[in-house]
Amino acid sequence: MSEEVPKRRLKGIRKALDDNKQRLELKERQRKRLAESASRRPPPPRRKDWWHTDDQHEIEEPERPARPLRRSPCVVAPEPLPEAIGTIVEIRPGEPLVEYGGAFVRATLPAAGAAIDPSTRSPLAVGDRVQLQPTGGDQARIVAILPRRSALTRDVYDVSRRDAIHERHVLAANIDQVIVVCSTAEPPFRPRLIDRYLVAASRDSLPAVVCLNKEDLGVADKVEWYLDGYSRLGVPVLRASALTGAGLVELKECMAGRISLLTGHSGVGKSSLLNALEPALALRTGEVTQTAAGQGKGRHTTSAARLIALPFPDTFVVDTPGIRAFGIRGMEARELARHFADIAALAPGCAFDDCLHRGEPACAVAGRAQHDGFLRKRLESYRGMLRELE
Ligand code: GDP
Ligand code: ZN
Repeated sequence: MSEEVPKRRLKGIRKALDDNKQRLELKERQRKRLAESASRRPPPPRRKDWWHTDDQHEIEEPERPARPLRRSPCVVAPEPLPEAIGTIVEIRPGEPLVEYGGAFVRATLPAAGAAIDPSTRSPLAVGDRVQLQPTGGDQARIVAILPRRSALTRDVYDVSRRDAIHERHVLAANIDQVIVVCSTAEPPFRPRLIDRYLVAASRDSLPAVVCLNKEDLGVADKVEWYLDGYSRLGVPVLRASALTGAGLVELKECMAGRISLLTGHSGVGKSSLLNALEPALALRTGEVTQTAAGQGKGRHTTSAARLIALPFPDTFVVDTPGIRAFGIRGMEARELARHFADIAALAPGCAFDDCLHRGEPACAVAGRAQHDGFLRKRLESYRGMLRELE
């Protein structure tokens, strides 16, 4: 068999590499321009976000600059492209980036009226599985979206309207799980915030995992007590340390072959954990900026999600720059208890069918909470959230 690469093919690959180099150079120029203009602008005022409150603390996540995908920075597809099913990893206007078989392809959108449903605000979202049809050379067209098995959504408010109608915006599709990262200390362990994330995950019918990071700092008895409570609730609990590498095998096993969303308070070590799993990602860590732009409110947020590929088969992490959490502001008060599995399980025993478990007579939840410390904490957490929803 001849080892010679066909000339036509070599030419195609060279062209793709050249195109990609130009794109990267353009991106770098744009990034520099943005950085320059950002340094000239005064920092925007800090805003209080419903989601980012826990007890008395205001919590803000630092913005992270968008970074190119580190694994396989070249957009080179085998030539010619076969019929394939790929995963959308990034959406640029009119030019979604699709991963399949470890390669990245810039695909074109189908003609209007094709199989993709244009009635939703997000006809395509990262995480969508799409069918690609070769259009010659290293080009492909998306011809269909496969049915979504889940969607991560966020409420979008129209701040210019008095009635503040909102719609739900699909941030990412086919998410398999939400990994709620928390830390033993620095910042302190905050169970109420964990409860909020669990509620948000449950609202989108996504299973959640709690991952305690910074185990190396020592785990206080109180933290152990909470973790035990979450385990009894049926939430898997992982312990890790990005610093020492403890627990990373378990974290990797939990993520492998799945699309996960890592969420949690700023500084708990989300980026550090990802870097520990894949050093080539080189995500920035430990930086807290004052930027409040894109905190997930209003219409002006630019918060395109993207998938970060980890070096295990079919393993991705959702990165939602600007939205470090997904809010539940639009939720009906009586819906809330449904997302507290322990409270929901006891609710049928309450005297009133519409019991909101906030002091009504003969409330089965409050009754049990007198003898169950963890449930008591969860009920406090629930009542705190309920007050904010009403
Ligand atoms: P993120 O905001 O959740 O992405 O948190 P970062 O990954 O930026 O980490 C915040 C700070 O915590 C950084 O200074 C890290 O070095 C530190 N950190 C992260 N993981 C660990 C850990 O396992 N142990 C200790 N002691 N520090 C950690
Ligand atoms: Zn009740």
